[in-house]
Amino acid sequence: MTGIQELLLSRIRDVADYPEPGVMFKDITPLLADPAAFTALTDTLSEIATNTGATKVVGLEARGFILGAPVALRAGLGFIPVRKAGKLPGATLRQAYDLEYGSAEIEVHAEDLAAGDRVLIVDDVLATGGTAEAAIHLIQRAGAEVSGLAVLMELGFLQGRARLTPALDGAPLEAL
Ligand code: AMP
Repeated sequence: MTGIQELLLSRIRDVADYPEPGVMFKDITPLLADPAAFTALTDTLSEIATNTGATKVVGLEARGFILGAPVALRAGLGFIPVRKAGKLPGATLRQAYDLEYGSAEIEVHAEDLAAGDRVLIVDDVLATGGTAEAAIHLIQRAGAEVSGLAVLMELGFLQGRARLTPALDGAPLEAL
């Protein structure tokens, strides 16, 4: 493990049985409160944005906003929020996806993405991959291309990486 990985890992708090029994919640608020760790994370993610040739950064609600916005600025790129349905005021593209119980929908402003854009998706945790998969489809439906998916943590036992392989179509999935 690198020094940066050790630093990041030391600033993530495991909270058992939150928000429901059986879930180990990965709380990133200690990392956000530590400027050295937050800077190291932002720098690393912005290098991924640059290395994958991204022209825009998409953050997934809500912690993907906190991580993605400074990454976009650091890399000199625009930031685009992908939100839960019903939160964006303009014309949107909407994508549904399945949850363990029921389903959910996410949206992006249609005018924010276009053919020729290469998009790095940023989020804190990759779990089942359902949210990221829906975001990839949303970006592709807008005519843009996914340059990569970058997350702080991947919960490997949930097999999100395997689920995302077809949708990513060769674009890298970087889990720090
Ligand atoms: P999934 O769609 O299953 O990959 O879930 C990913 C989304 O849910 C991300 O936006 C995460 O912020 C959140 N999430 C899922 N599992 C956890 C967890 N154990 N700890 C913190 N956040 C999680």
